[in-house]
Amino acid sequence: MFDVATRSSEPVFDPTTCTLLDGVHGAEGPASLFIGGQWQPAADGQTRTISCPADGCVVGTVSEASDEDTERAIAAARASFDAQVWSQVPAVERGKLLLRVAAAISDNKDTFARAEAADTGKRVSEAEADMDDIISSFEYFGTLAQHDAGRVVDPGDENVRSRVDVEPIGVCGLITPWNYPLLQVAWKVAPALAAGNSFVLKPAELTPHTAMLLMAVLREQGLPDGVANLVTGAGATCGNPLSQSPDVDMVSFTGGLQTGKLIARNAAETIKNIALELGGKNPNVIFADADFDAAVDNALNGAFVHSGQVCSAGARIIVEESIAERFIEALVSRACAIKLGGPRDEAAETGALISEDHLNKVAAYVDRAKEQGATIACGGRRATAEDSSAGNGTGETNLAEGYFYLPTIISGCDQSMDCVHDEGFGPVATIETFSTEEEAIRIANDTTYGLAGAVWTSNAGRAERVARGMRHGTIWINDFHPYLPQAEWGGMKQSGIGRELGPTGLEEYQEKKHVYHNIAPAVTNWFAQ
Ligand code: NAD
Repeated sequence: MFDVATRSSEPVFDPTTCTLLDGVHGAEGPASLFIGGQWQPAADGQTRTISCPADGCVVGTVSEASDEDTERAIAAARASFDAQVWSQVPAVERGKLLLRVAAAISDNKDTFARAEAADTGKRVSEAEADMDDIISSFEYFGTLAQHDAGRVVDPGDENVRSRVDVEPIGVCGLITPWNYPLLQVAWKVAPALAAGNSFVLKPAELTPHTAMLLMAVLREQGLPDGVANLVTGAGATCGNPLSQSPDVDMVSFTGGLQTGKLIARNAAETIKNIALELGGKNPNVIFADADFDAAVDNALNGAFVHSGQVCSAGARIIVEESIAERFIEALVSRACAIKLGGPRDEAAETGALISEDHLNKVAAYVDRAKEQGATIACGGRRATAEDSSAGNGTGETNLAEGYFYLPTIISGCDQSMDCVHDEGFGPVATIETFSTEEEAIRIANDTTYGLAGAVWTSNAGRAERVARGMRHGTIWINDFHPYLPQAEWGGMKQSGIGRELGPTGLEEYQEKKHVYHNIAPAVTNWFAQ
């Protein structure tokens, strides 16, 4: 079995015991590119070593694709699509394959979760919960595919039959980030396959292993060669052709705003379909009449789950003035007690940041808030060895070995400060206050993003009014973070274009074709004979 359970300083992907990834690691080095149904090395032999951000241990070595490798993967996807090897498979059978994929991930959940935890540094228990969500996504689109037969239109003419067929778009370039590596992949791969497309997947370069496992499962479950292709490597090199190549019909991207803009510009050259899931600066609005303890507890979850590396993190807490002091005090006392630790530290409640670069960005974001006059109510620095057995430590993990940053609350913020507008993508929450419902809505919308937000109140009318006023793609009322595969996910404003999940999540990967059938053809006499 593909074993990432044994954490040591040695590489842990043991080729002698690997079954799911048979053939990926040979004597001549890694061959982690999956192109045309074959595991292959990068053409120029380049490799990348993946390390666990919680302790620096080597997780594995993978191939580092160049743009040339991606061009080969695009050609394989194009050839499979043009040969109709998958698009001609009945939708019911496509759906059944996705259901088998869901079952296979479930059967190998432990392996998948450990691989995800090793790449990301998140706790294994958290990665296991991610796997449940991933299984649900494959089940949802597997079921939806089986019930998706287009629609019949009434033409208003007894001699005409009119219908709208749904067809795959073609070759899809799928580009995903490192925070929820396989979940973001599943939200794209499952609907792309349900609709009958071929694809080239480029996961984040830091977290490739679960995408590799998925390719192995797709092959095991009988997906024809060339339909699913994987390139592992950096965005600017191996990712770039996916938005530029005329042989790619659609690019679906999840990641940062600047990369999203670049991809949109590239895609415009060949009028590709695009779907963009970008960042967020998500308001969590708390009224004085809310259940206080539940609001504090969920504000903590909203901001600090996965150390804030969540696109929908509730990093912008907006609390009614009359309860602000008590709220901040309660939140700070809980944040100071959040336990940090590595993937297998069972006492830990959240993990490390993904990389040293990212940790430095989070630190600079907090430093800027200080410079602009905000107050650091707790945290505000990288965790040290001494923290390992103090407030945020468990005693099990040496926090100095990984990229751990202390849960941080910044109070005294106002809308002139960068920290309330810029996405921090770390364990940092800012606090602003308001006095009226209108002011709360105005502050919540004072962002270029529009991904998600929450309102906490015991007044049902106010809850609905504020939810309607907030320009964000998901609104939670008296909750934070849950999502459903049946409900659309995505952003307004600069948080993106399009939606994942729900029926729209499948439509993103479909073309609609109107077929107008005249069953009594006749001379029209439009022009004189
Ligand atoms: P990123 O934009 O740096 O990278 C995302 C992916 O794009 C990676 O695979 C990367 O290699 C690739 N990439 C980079 N440059 C590229 C290029 N020129 N061409 C093609 N691909 C390229 O983002 P990140 O740091 O990995 O992820 C964090 C960001 O993702 C945050 O802003 C977060 O909010 C966002 N995100 C959004 C959602 C959502 O659902 N809206 C979900 C998760 C993450």
